[in-house]
Amino acid sequence: MPLTPEQAAEIDALRATPQPTLRAVAPGAEAHLYTAHPVLDHGFIRMVDYMGDDSAICQAARVSYGKGTKSVSNDEGLIRYLMRHWHSTPFEMCEIKLHVKLPVFVARQWIRHRTANVNEYSARYSILDREFYIPQPDALAAQSTTNNQGRGAVLTGREAERVLEILKSDSDRAYDHYEEMLSEDGQQGLARELARMNLPANIYTQWYWKVDLHNLFHFLRLRADAHAQMEIRVYAEAICKVVADWVPFAYGAFEDYRMGGATLSAKALDCLRRMLAGEAVTQETSGMSKGEWREFEGVIGS
Ligand SMILES: Cc1cc2nc3c(=O)[nH]c(=O)nc-3n(C[C@H](O)[C@H](O)[C@H](O)COP(=O)(O)OP(=O)(O)OC[C@H]3O[C@@H](n4cnc5c(N)ncnc54)[C@H](O)[C@@H]3O)c2cc1C
Repeated sequence: MPLTPEQAAEIDALRATPQPTLRAVAPGAEAHLYTAHPVLDHGFIRMVDYMGDDSAICQAARVSYGKGTKSVSNDEGLIRYLMRHWHSTPFEMCEIKLHVKLPVFVARQWIRHRTANVNEYSARYSILDREFYIPQPDALAAQSTTNNQGRGAVLTGREAERVLEILKSDSDRAYDHYEEMLSEDGQQGLARELARMNLPANIYTQWYWKVDLHNLFHFLRLRADAHAQMEIRVYAEAICKVVADWVPFAYGAFEDYRMGGATLSAKALDCLRRMLAGEAVTQETSGMSKGEWREFEGVIGS
């Protein structure tokens, strides 16, 4: 369990004290509010606040005085239209604030998404916990032979044991030295901001991360994708579940048009039209490079 009993009690207390409000309330988001959803071995994501719901998107699109549209089916249709036509600003009217606990090497990928607001736990101010990400055996894989940016077959037997042992003992030794350097036992002790230098990238950090729905969808499109590293993908997938409950129409449109859909170039579209007309198009006659053709075949499932 990634939370201490005290932290879990704080969350229970928050969930036990609802406040009346005139603001838009999304029942699906309320069900998640403050609750920590475990990710990896010590991490989690938890929604600490949100603004807006599906009808807030419609309200903004119509610049309306009331709820936005007259019926639920109108709302869904409008949201799908907005998503289909890349009309993005109404989605920016919804926001979510998450508390995330994640390994530092995952945080390095995550922080590349600049269109969010972040406040991270300070390892200058506080002492980091002895918590390191150690992959499950089925996540310990060899370098992929076909994809320089990916992993291949799962390691087994002695090799898997050896790698796990190195990961665990290096993490422990680095943390022991961290504590030793901080120690004021009969000495001055090194400052926290310096002692953290030797800690490995699998140590956990935490942050509050606030982002609007448009930019969150961009993040999820890239990080819940099969090409993303598994260790960040599992966070994106956990967030997807929360967002699906918070703004079900917007999430449904996102799944349909962005996660499940594909963009075709003019050349690819031309090939598709020729194929539908009965022509046997090949990579050589397509006008596309080998890479483009391979991806095009992936999209049309041939
Ligand atoms: C599978 C995968 C592999 C990757 N590999 C690498 C890698 O090897 N090396 C590496 O360095 N990165 C890598 N990245 C990170 C990637 O290049 C992006 O930095 C990251 O995905 C953030 O995307 P973004 O800039 O679109 O997002 P955000 O920073 O959230 O920006 C969202 C959008 O806002 C606009 N925007 C934001 N800031 C600016 C700006 N300053 N100027 C102009 N437009 C802006 C852009 O349109 C941008 O798409 C990888 C990402 C993925 C998903």
